[in-house]
Formats: sequence, C-alpha cells, structure tokens
Amino acid sequence: MNSIKKNISILTVDLEEWYHGAYPGFSPNGKFETIPTQLYKVVLNMLKLFAEHNSKSTFFVLGELAQKYPELIKEIHNQGHEIASHGFHHIQTNLLGAKGFRENVEKSIETIGSVINVKLKGFRAPNFSLNPHKTPWAFEILEELGFEYDSSVFPALMYYGGATRFSRFITDINGLEEYPPSCFNVFGTRISFAGGFYLRVLPKWLISKGIKKYCEMGYTPVLYIHPKDIDNETPSLPVDPISNFVHRGLCRKGFAKLEWVLKFSKIISIEEYRECRKET
Ligand SMILES: [Zn+2]
Repeated sequence: MNSIKKNISILTVDLEEWYHGAYPGFSPNGKFETIPTQLYKVVLNMLKLFAEHNSKSTFFVLGELAQKYPELIKEIHNQGHEIASHGFHHIQTNLLGAKGFRENVEKSIETIGSVINVKLKGFRAPNFSLNPHKTPWAFEILEELGFEYDSSVFPALMYYGGATRFSRFITDINGLEEYPPSCFNVFGTRISFAGGFYLRVLPKWLISKGIKKYCEMGYTPVLYIHPKDIDNETPSLPVDPISNFVHRGLCRKGFAKLEWVLKFSKIISIEEYRECRKET
C-alpha cells in the first residue's frame, strides 16, 4: 500500500495512564488507580498542539479510562480525532488467552460505545502484544467483532518481544488491515524509530531519516505516543533503573519532540489515511 503523498505520517496515541506499561516483575495491580494523575491536563495540551497544526490522530482508548474520563473521550472525538480500542484493561494478549482477550475487547467496545456513538474500526493490543504466529486467534476474534484494522504487531526488537519477521509496512492479515509501527532495517536488524521510548530518546536527525526513508520508498510511516511520553512530571515506577529509563527517560523533552514531529511531517489519523486511500 503506497503512501498518499510525500512526507505524510500516521500518528497514533495510546490513551492510558503513566503506570500501564509492562516491565519485568512489575504489575500496577491497583497500586496507582486511586492516585490523582495528570492525564486530563496532558491530553488537553496534546489536543491543543494537534489543533495548532491542524492535525488529526487516532486515539486507541483503554476502556477503563473511557469509564473514568467520559468527558475527555467526548472532547477528543468532538475535535475530530479517531477513537479506536486499546482493550478494556491494559493486559497483554498472551496473558489473557483467547476467551479473556475476547471478553476484554468486547468490554472495551461496550464501554467506549456508551460514551460516544461510533463504530470502532481499529484496535491496538496493550504492549503491542499481537503476533501472527503466537496469537493467530486474536486476529480472527477482532474480525468477528467487526474491526477493520489492527495496529498491534511490533515488527522490530522491543523490550518484551516483537515480531521481527513481520512486514514493517502497512499490510493485510487475512481480512484485517495491519498498521505496524515503523522501524529501520539495519543489515537485517529491525530498530524502531516510531514512538514512545524511541521517539523520546532518539535524535531528531535519526527520526527524520526514518520518516523520509519510508516516504521515499512510497510507504506511510506509523508513529505512536502515550500521554506519559510528553509529560515532564511522569513519575518513576518501582522497577530497575533500566526499566525506569525506558519508562520515563527524556519525558521532559517529549512535548517539544512531538511539536517537532508535527512541524516536520504532515500528521494524519489512520481514519484519514484509509479515506485518502479509498479516493486514490
Ligand atoms: Zn498501551
């Protein structure tokens, strides 16, 4: 699938709390849920930045947050961004199994649907935990539940896995469109430049090189961020120092980095990409 025009990137947001990431030996387990967070403020700042650049994004919303912050989800939707599902609880697919996965996704559809009246077309699993070889049943379940696309396969090395032999470009898995986050291919080794930790830590020249390379090849890069990535007050987690660096390293520069991405590349949502593709 070719890009619509040069230097256009898809941007996606995983709408979740700062403590929802997975790290060795760590589980939030209700430890943080009652502590007030900056999520609302951070997301409103993000929306303001998107509006200033006339850009739309796809928000993969965690069902439990739609339940907790319905007005925030409505605001994101009212500003024209695409709302998609990130599951209900932030639990990796391989830990849920087929039955638990279906229940978790169904509950997210129900909850988000009770807040805004739209048909959810897209899904992203917590921690990019879908894999065509390890969880093939998950794609079938998503199709059965009416999803049209997925963005859960991480085609590069990552902290907890990655599907390094999967296409690093927008592709199809049976009847489902797949939007893998973009990565470099350096002598056969896949290295992400697409978002989260990588977007925070990698220098701008390297990220711009990655975006340009995709566009030159005729593909549209897929980028992603979390609210915590642009919050200079993201707290530490009770994990080892390396995990904490992955969790919050250079968050203080995240907002400026996002602003730079919005200036460097024309940012669109997956919904807009799919609309443009239909027209061409
Ligand atoms: Zn997530």
